[in-house]
Amino acid sequence: MSAKRVALFPGSFDPMTNGHLDLAQRAAAIFDRVVIAVAHNPAKTSLFTPEERVALIEGALAGTRGVTAMHFSGLVVDCARSVGAQVMVRGLRAVSDFEFEFQMALMNRRLSPDLEVAFLMPSQEYTYLNSTLVKEVARHGGRIRGLVPLNVERALRQRFRTSGRSAR
Ligand code: ADP
Repeated sequence: MSAKRVALFPGSFDPMTNGHLDLAQRAAAIFDRVVIAVAHNPAKTSLFTPEERVALIEGALAGTRGVTAMHFSGLVVDCARSVGAQVMVRGLRAVSDFEFEFQMALMNRRLSPDLEVAFLMPSQEYTYLNSTLVKEVARHGGRIRGLVPLNVERALRQRFRTSGRSAR
């Protein structure tokens, strides 16, 4: 029997968007197990705590087989090793992602030569989407329906105390 293929999908996920979800589902179709790993970086300010971000991912993923979520601090290569991942999944939305992702991939390869990186592309409708943009729209009460899972939409509305009725 061949060994199970485990992929780590690391990131900030502050909060998870439909772009992240699209990527996680694509990864789940390729690998036996996908672990979404929420990076806890005290140097970065975030809207949601790592625990909240994991809970939002779990809520959004309900029913997606083989995908789990956790949070970690420290090196992503150490996190990959701890969950037995042979592959790290990252998203490429546009050429602008490439340079940063390339740097990160080469540094991670230096740190952990056996860990491969697989870049996946989301559906076209999510290529412009990122968490920062969604937070800005939500902060000002704009419509975010269809950009994030429903539980994330609710959490953003609560955090900003907005109805989301404007800019329809
Ligand atoms: P980071 O701070 O590590 O970039 P993010 O939460 O922004 O974390 O993203 C995590 C991963 O998800 C990255 O590989 C990023 O390219 C990917 N990603 C983010 N948004 C999208 C999207 N809309 N479509 C596809 N991949 C995405």
